[in-house]
Amino acid sequence: MAEVYEKDLSELQAELGSRDTGLSEQEAGERLQKYGKNELEKAGKKNVFQKFLDELKDPMLIMLLAAAVVSAVTNAVSGESMAEVFIILIVVGLNAALGVFQESKAENAVEALQKMTAATCHVIRDGKQEEVPSSSLVPGDVVLLEAGDMVPADGRLLEAESLRIDESSLTGESVPVQKLVKMVKQEDSGEVSLGDRKNMAFMGSSVSYGRGKLLVTDTGMRTEMGKIADVLNQTEDSETPLQKKLNELGKKLSVMVILICVFIFVFDMVMAPERNLSTVLQIFMIAVSLAVAAIPEGLATVVTLVLSLGVTRMSKANAIVRRLTAVEALGCTNVICSDKTGTLTQNRMTVVRTFGDRKLLAEAMSLCSDAQADEDGAVQGEPTEAALVAFAEKEGFHKKQAEKTMPRIAECPFDSSRKMMTTFHRTEKGIIQYTKGAPDVVLGRCATWIRDGKELPLDEEGRRIIRDQVSAMAADALRVLAAAKRSYKTLPENHSPEQAEQNLCFIGLAGMMDPVRKEVPDALRKCREAGIRPVMITGDHRDTAAAIARELGIIQEDSEVKTGAELDRISDEELYRDIDKYHVYARVKPEHKVRIVNAWKKRGAITAMTGDGVNDAPSVKSADIGIGMGITGTDVTKNAADLILTDDNYATIVRAVEEGRQIYDNIRKAIQFLLSTNISEVIIVFLFTLLRFNTFRPMHLLFINLLTDCFPAMALGMESEEKDVMKRPPRKSDDSVFSGGMGRDIAYQGSLVAVLVLISYLFGSFAQLGEPGHSVTGLTMAFVTLNLCEIFHSFNMRSRIHSVFTLGSQNLTLWLSGVSGFVLTTLAVKIPAAAKVLQLEDLSWGLYGTAVLIAFLVIPVVEIVKAVQRALRRKKTASA
Ligand code: ATP
Repeated sequence: MAEVYEKDLSELQAELGSRDTGLSEQEAGERLQKYGKNELEKAGKKNVFQKFLDELKDPMLIMLLAAAVVSAVTNAVSGESMAEVFIILIVVGLNAALGVFQESKAENAVEALQKMTAATCHVIRDGKQEEVPSSSLVPGDVVLLEAGDMVPADGRLLEAESLRIDESSLTGESVPVQKLVKMVKQEDSGEVSLGDRKNMAFMGSSVSYGRGKLLVTDTGMRTEMGKIADVLNQTEDSETPLQKKLNELGKKLSVMVILICVFIFVFDMVMAPERNLSTVLQIFMIAVSLAVAAIPEGLATVVTLVLSLGVTRMSKANAIVRRLTAVEALGCTNVICSDKTGTLTQNRMTVVRTFGDRKLLAEAMSLCSDAQADEDGAVQGEPTEAALVAFAEKEGFHKKQAEKTMPRIAECPFDSSRKMMTTFHRTEKGIIQYTKGAPDVVLGRCATWIRDGKELPLDEEGRRIIRDQVSAMAADALRVLAAAKRSYKTLPENHSPEQAEQNLCFIGLAGMMDPVRKEVPDALRKCREAGIRPVMITGDHRDTAAAIARELGIIQEDSEVKTGAELDRISDEELYRDIDKYHVYARVKPEHKVRIVNAWKKRGAITAMTGDGVNDAPSVKSADIGIGMGITGTDVTKNAADLILTDDNYATIVRAVEEGRQIYDNIRKAIQFLLSTNISEVIIVFLFTLLRFNTFRPMHLLFINLLTDCFPAMALGMESEEKDVMKRPPRKSDDSVFSGGMGRDIAYQGSLVAVLVLISYLFGSFAQLGEPGHSVTGLTMAFVTLNLCEIFHSFNMRSRIHSVFTLGSQNLTLWLSGVSGFVLTTLAVKIPAAAKVLQLEDLSWGLYGTAVLIAFLVIPVVEIVKAVQRALRRKKTASA
């Protein structure tokens, strides 16, 4: 049977039941049922039960299960109740369930984001062009391809206009392949390799240049991409640097805990009056207590959860995170390099001024444009082109009609490096070529110009007049485009841009207004307050860029503007040295953007860079935070991006930076809280054992950790942002998580809680025994104080520096977790049966109140320390 690339096109069309007008919606729907979605199957997902089992592999939980066994044995030997065993088992189950819940929540968030960035493509159905999700494509569909698109399925090309496709993901060949409609001639009868099937395009490759029309032949797993099974399993390393660091920290802590446990075990064995099985088991339980106390089990999950909640929040604010690592980097951003058109401005162009013969200008601009106008003059297309067509319609030049008498027969598509576009039209008098583009570039290709209806040589004086016109328009922040023409008898064989775009006749200029987005001035002010440098990079004219940048306050002096041509004249070294002097880059080519990013990176700055066009992918990729445009961006650039703006808005980037800072802040709060409480528990168990006090059993610590550790830490992760997040300089990317005295704060706060618990124990011990010793009352009071201390301390941690009483906001989740923790602690010691199960006693209200009061002291003490720290910090900044 003949292969797809060998068949006659009409034969293939008939076979697929397709037409030039595409399939009908109904046909497409039916085929979707039959062939399934145009998607690659993902590697198997785990079900809940598997995830639950995975959680149980956690070393901490394994240790607890061992403790349950030990407890069961000792209790069976001594005939005691099995309550402790059940409590441990319940807690292990709950812990694993909580882990599964958190993981699923994070997974769902990421999946939802993936759906939001799902690829779309332009298909022709029922004769009309429409945008559909690529997953809904079926064999027989007709898809339009243009530069920057990802090819959504495999198919045969119906049209190919200067079409070049990058197939490196399939063939490894990095040079884009020139595609053709013609059949591939087969010399021998062997199979033609993928790279040589010039009349086909394949899923997963990307259009680098030109445009084309594709007849879909295969979708989903039947595509060439689908046949390479292992690409599906190339999952990226999705752990962020912070998660990696915390995992390492977790491992280090575990080792430390084991060492301490061994020490306690040996110490207790040596000190024990008699060494029998029951003492060994007892001592083992103490070691387990210590391990439970010390391992911050919530750490990793809290970070994952806070990150995933953060990215969900960001997606609602129009910023879709594609790589979790970007969230951390966002918080450290020093420089935001952004395009002008559409990001800082609205990308709503209107022609407001012209130069030259308007009738001819209207014809040239309208015909040499891909925007479409319908009968009643409504225009659709890319904003610059649409503005030009709209201008022509107003001038009485109707594109729809004109295209009948002057059809486009060939073209050189626009490309942002050339900054021009050319079309060829057949007329009664022969072939006419229209070229439009950046005025400085077009002017350089012109030999004549039209004056008073006559074509005259373009001398220096003429060039000066045109340049003055351009400057005047650009100084008023207008985007200026020039139009030119050339005539032929017949279409030249070689009509490549190099050949065609010279010896032109200058027609005129169109000046377009593109108002600044209204949120942008405010966002730029925020940037400056936050120590972030805004840099504008544009393909537009120097004067236009400078005028807008001045209006926005990005520059004060003209010397802060650098053009692409000037960049070409300086070395990377010079650029690196002077990079902080330039705030605007005009008339740049996409490759300049890479140089700018690299110079900033070399300076150690964390750089964000926006991109939309097909050639922007390298700079977006090399930036620390590559930002793709959701509306105007090409698939290729979006695929390279870490962050996608669904509204293309500069203000959204600043909002994302703010979120990034807040997320990091919240994670630090949760970490500080978790570690300080863990440290307090370690100190207590260690101290109580050394002092031969009645110490906490594993179930007590599990109770405490479950109620007071996990939930408050999660609640802290959801804390709303502090007022000064965008008033401080960016965090340094190599700063440790514990920077800014966090390690010291964890140590003092952990010790403080331990001291308060010790005081509470002594109080109870004196009340019961009249002296410090092995006291149940003491342990019960210590239990209450430790629980409540942690709850109160979670409120302290709402801000690491500011007083909780000045925050102004409330954290409802924290209140909920705090109140429920308080109630459950009270029930545990006030319901006699519960107290008995927990091997505690029914505390009198007086002693209970005392334990609560002692716990409460953690708030005033931390407040005082924070006040001192704030005063010291003010003094330091004042003297600096
Ligand atoms: P930014 O880089 O801020 O998005 P830009 O749209 O000016 O700005 P490019 O798309 O690279 O950047 O365009 C570069 C230049 O090419 C423009 O300034 C304009 O002079 C010219 N140009 C833009 N669009 C077209 C087009 N459709 N046809 C012809 N020339 C164009």
